[in-house]
Amino acid sequence: MITITGATGQLGRLTVTALLDRGVPAGEIVAAVRNPDKAADLAALGVQVRHADYNQPETLAEAFAGTDRLLLISGSEVGQRVAQHANVVAAAKAAGVRLIAYTSILNADTSGVSLATEHRASEALVRDSGLPFVLLRNGWYLENYTANLAPALQHGAIFGTAGEGRVAAATRADFAAAAAAVLAGEGHENAVYELGADQSFTMAELAAEVTRQSGTEVVYRDLPAEEYTKVLVGVGLPEPVAAMLADSDQGIARGELATDSGDLRTLIGRPTTTLAEGIGAALAA
Ligand code: NAP
Repeated sequence: MITITGATGQLGRLTVTALLDRGVPAGEIVAAVRNPDKAADLAALGVQVRHADYNQPETLAEAFAGTDRLLLISGSEVGQRVAQHANVVAAAKAAGVRLIAYTSILNADTSGVSLATEHRASEALVRDSGLPFVLLRNGWYLENYTANLAPALQHGAIFGTAGEGRVAAATRADFAAAAAAVLAGEGHENAVYELGADQSFTMAELAAEVTRQSGTEVVYRDLPAEEYTKVLVGVGLPEPVAAMLADSDQGIARGELATDSGDLRTLIGRPTTTLAEGIGAALAA
């Protein structure tokens, strides 16, 4: 049995689909979810839906029964994740799971971005469990840039504090395909994969590609971190989220969200989705 936590999330749903695409029978997949009411579509695929809340260890014990391979998708509640992931790892161990894969962050061991702190601690939990593990160090999602192009087109500008740093952003679908390859494949025990797109890009290159495909001129405006944080707060983001995004952009400036490992391409067995393809799909949607 292969169990995916956070299966009602965007990456989780894509991972379930990627497993089915690889020919894993639906009955051998468990969608472990915080809110089963959100999982009717997954149940309709024939996947087993089980209640699994990272804050409720008793749900995890039941959800992981019979699981051989577990994908722990990192939670979305920043600041609470180490305790939550500790519950998941303990339950995995108690259930006799034989492989635990964890979605971490690119360059987790050396990255200076604030988000890496919880991922480093979570990686340590996974390693220290004594279970065979796989660290899927996912880079930035391409959708972070393509999902909301309307304001960039409206203002003719993309704002950030990433300088001339390059980001190897890849689609969630590509990261999901990599997770599925690990879960359904063999020989990945104790591997650490640095996952990013084949080609990285700068924010100026992002703006140029949006311009090229939309016909509307969009430029990149690089701001000091404090000013960029204020811009994000000004459009309605909570201060801590704005600060976290500015901090991550500065990590991009330092090259911490780029990689030339080729691990993503190798795992999925094809080139990764390009920036041009991602923007094209977003503009066509
Ligand atoms: P997402 O759509 O927000 O999904 C997060 C999933 O975590 C959801 O299914 C959510 O459940 C589940 N979750 C949150 N708290 C939980 C809890 N206490 N117990 C059980 N499940 C819980 O995010 P995503 O796009 O799939 O990304 C997956 C993860 O990658 C995120 O959670 C975050 O750690 C990380 N991330 C990465 C990037 C990147 O650029 N690489 C960007 C953002 C986030 P519900 O469906 O019930 O809400």
